[in-house]
Amino acid sequence: MDSCIFCKIKNKEIPSKIVFEDERIVAFNDANPQAPVHILLIPKEHFVSLNDIPEEKKDVLSHLLLKARQIAQQQGISKNGYRIVLNTERDSGQEVFHIHFHLLGGRRMTWPPG
Ligand code: 5GP
Ligand code: ZN
Repeated sequence: MDSCIFCKIKNKEIPSKIVFEDERIVAFNDANPQAPVHILLIPKEHFVSLNDIPEEKKDVLSHLLLKARQIAQQQGISKNGYRIVLNTERDSGQEVFHIHFHLLGGRRMTWPPG
């Protein structure tokens, strides 16, 4: 998707600190981190939100989640804990309309989220 900022990151058209990449997904540091560790994980294929993942593509979701778990281990936040966030559409606060998981950790989170 030409105008999508995360597709541009995936295509290396705009710079980011990529922490992991394979044939299906990319993980990179959030530009405006809300915690000591704040990493975004995206599928390379452009989907707007969770609402747009077709049944036959559902495996990418488990791949993203398990890679988030592995990155949390590598970042040293696994034992104390971390939060994974998936904002979906306007009321959730989603601002970039290319589906992404947030991996947040390195500090104590509050609940409930705002
Ligand atoms: P959302 O609110 O859509 O769930 O989260 C979008 C996230 O993308 C925000 O945390 C924001 O800081 C991050 N973000 C927006 N633009 C860029 C960018 O150009 N580069 C990076 N690395 N992160 C971005
Ligand atoms: Zn995109």
